[in-house]
Amino acid sequence: MKVRSLIDQLDADHNLNRSDYELLLKEWDSSDAAYAAAKAVIWRQSYFSNKIYVRGLIEFTNICRNDCYYCGIRKGNQEIVRYRLTEEQIMSCCREGYELGFRTFVLQGGEDAWFSDERMCGIVSAIRRKYPDCAITLSTGERSRESYQRLFDAGADRYLLRHETADAEHYKKLHPPALSWEHRMQCLQDLREIGYQVGCGFMVGSPYQKPEHLAEDLCFIQEFRPEMCGIGPFIPHHQTPFAQEPAGSYELTLFLLSILRLIKPDLLLPSTTALGTINPRGREMGILAGANVVMPNLSPTEVRKQYELYDNKICTGDESAQCRDCLETRMESIGCEVVTDRGDAPGR
Ligand code: SF4
Repeated sequence: MKVRSLIDQLDADHNLNRSDYELLLKEWDSSDAAYAAAKAVIWRQSYFSNKIYVRGLIEFTNICRNDCYYCGIRKGNQEIVRYRLTEEQIMSCCREGYELGFRTFVLQGGEDAWFSDERMCGIVSAIRRKYPDCAITLSTGERSRESYQRLFDAGADRYLLRHETADAEHYKKLHPPALSWEHRMQCLQDLREIGYQVGCGFMVGSPYQKPEHLAEDLCFIQEFRPEMCGIGPFIPHHQTPFAQEPAGSYELTLFLLSILRLIKPDLLLPSTTALGTINPRGREMGILAGANVVMPNLSPTEVRKQYELYDNKICTGDESAQCRDCLETRMESIGCEVVTDRGDAPGR
């Protein structure tokens, strides 16, 4: 009963302390998850009705200077074919996406120095000029504050930077020494201060993760109050040091989606491709747990397989229109409707 009363408390106050989150994460069961999901869906519907926002994802480079231990496109992976989209290819993805009804473009890539501030600002301002009614989201990792500011001034609205774990020691177990938790957190702070709508996020079931770490993540989100939060189960990639680690729990990911909705009822919360990879109905179930965003792929089909962050990633063979139609049908099957909308965070 303690777990139920904590879910009730979160539903009423949107706030718990660290030890209560720990207890929740250690003692929940599937009936508690269903209980939390029912409450989460009421909040989702009160802010967003049955509308599901779509973001058109453009994976514009799989070149990265970093070597994160969990990531399939890490620098140390000698097996994959590397690619960069040209500005023309990126614009062509946007054109196709616009025609399909997308009003948010997400430019995601590794930390590829070729995409200097000058080049990135050129791309962002070209999209801004051509599609003034669209939101531009960037997800290109850690950059300097000055760089974030320049991209914002060029027309970017939102930035996604998963914090990965709110525990500094755990962060060290997932990343090489060149990357620091303090810097990651500083980047998130800089993005917030500049005026971006900010998205953070973490993997569920990453190696060495304990309930205490997840409790820390929930406290961080409660305090930082991001506009968006992306979570998905950890899925190993065969060319990484974590190749033999088990995947994260599908059920726990769904439970955490519900908890996040209760922490911040107006949160933009994607039902991720990783969730759809680990379970064929994962994305539908994510929405039924409280998520309200899906991110179909707009990248050119010929490069999709090269952006393999983890093994067996789904939707790497479909055309953009197929991805959109597939998600539309999936959402309709659970009584939801994909909408053509920028889908800003409420109040922005
Ligand atoms: S997680 Fe991001 S920064 Fe780390 S290796 Fe992968 S693409 Fe690069």
